[in-house]
Amino acid sequence: MADELSHPAHPTDLRPATIAVTGGRPSRQPDAPLNVPITMASTYVAAGDVEYGRYGNPTWSAFEDVLGALEGGRALAFASGMAAATTVLDLVGRDGGVVAPQHAYSGTIMALADLEARGRLHAELVDIADTDAVVGAMKADEDCALLWIESPTNPALELADIETLARAAHELGVRVVVDNTFATPLLQQPLSLGADIVVHSATKYLAGHSDVQLGALVVSDEEVHGALKARRDLVGAVPGPFETWLALRGLRTLHLRLERAQQNAVEIAGRLADHPGVVEVRYPGFGAIVAMVLADGFTADLVTRSTRLWVQATSLGGVESTLERRRRWQAEAQTIPEGLVRLSVGIEDVEDLWADLSRALAALAP
Ligand SMILES: *Cc1c(COP(=O)(O)O)cnc(C)c1O
Repeated sequence: MADELSHPAHPTDLRPATIAVTGGRPSRQPDAPLNVPITMASTYVAAGDVEYGRYGNPTWSAFEDVLGALEGGRALAFASGMAAATTVLDLVGRDGGVVAPQHAYSGTIMALADLEARGRLHAELVDIADTDAVVGAMKADEDCALLWIESPTNPALELADIETLARAAHELGVRVVVDNTFATPLLQQPLSLGADIVVHSATKYLAGHSDVQLGALVVSDEEVHGALKARRDLVGAVPGPFETWLALRGLRTLHLRLERAQQNAVEIAGRLADHPGVVEVRYPGFGAIVAMVLADGFTADLVTRSTRLWVQATSLGGVESTLERRRRWQAEAQTIPEGLVRLSVGIEDVEDLWADLSRALAALAP
C-alpha cells in the first residue's frame, strides 16, 4: 500500500520558528502557489503512490512534514486527538497492560476504561509525577505493554520525568507514548527524551483558533510508523483536507501565539497567587494553561459565569482566553478539586484579561 505523497525534504538544521513558517511548502516552480492547496480527493488516478483518499492526501502530507520536523520524527494526521490516541491504544495486544496518569485527559481515561470493561486490556492509573510509583506499576505487571504519559497533565498540571520513565520502560520492554498537547513541540520534544510515540490534539495549540478538530501522532521508528499508518488506513479515522489545511495555517504562527500566551500566563499566574480569593494556583512554569483552585464548586461557577472577555468554554489552546470548572464534567477525575478552574490563557492584552478576571473574582470578596 502506498505511503506518503512526497514533499521536498526539509533541512533538519533549522530552528523551530523557521520550520513552522517554511516547512511543507510546494516546490518552487514558476507560478506555483506558496501554500499547499486543499486537495479534495477521494480517489486518484491509478498506478501512483496513494490511489485512494483514506490512504493519503497532499494536504495531510504538508501538515505532517511540518509537525514531524518540529517534533523530530514522522507525523501522521488523524481526525481528532482521540482518533490518534485510540489508534495507539489499538497497538496494545489482547490482555496487555497500560500504565497511565490518573489525571490524564478525561477522554483518554474513558477510552482506557472502555477497553478494560470489554476485556481488551487492563489499565493501572498512577500519579505520573511520582517516578518510583510509575516504575513500580510497570514492574508489577508482567504484561505491561504501554506507558502512557501526559505532561503537563490536563487539568492538574503535574509534570512527569519523561527521560527517566522512558529509560525504565524500555528496560522492561514497555513502549512509551507522550501526550504533548499542552507543551507543544516548541516547549518539549518527547522523542528526544526517549519516547516512542507522541500524541497531539492538534485541535488545541497546533491549529490554535478553536475552529478545527484534528489529531496527530509522531514517531521516530519506521516500523512503528508503518503499524500506525496501517491502523489509520484500516480504521479510517482520517482528517478532512480543509481541517488539515487550517491546522497547517495555524502552525505557521505557533511560535508567536505560544510566546505571547505564555507571557500572559506567567503574569496571570503570578497575580492569581497573590489574590486572597484564590486557594491555590497551579502553573508548571511553562505553557499557557493555569489552574486556579477556588473555595468550592459554587464559587468557581460564579466566577466562570461572570467574566466578559474570558469565555466559559471547554477546550484550550486558542487565541482567545477561555476558562471552565473542570468538575462540571461527570467524567473528570474525582481527585480534581470541585473548585478547580482551568484557564487557557490566550493572546489578548494581559491587562484587559486581568481586569476582567479580577473583576469576576472581586465579586467573591465579603
Ligand atoms: C483535547 C485533548 C485530547 C483529545 O483531543 P480531541 O482533538 O478533542 O479529540 C487529548 N489529550 C489532551 C491533553 C487534550 O487536551
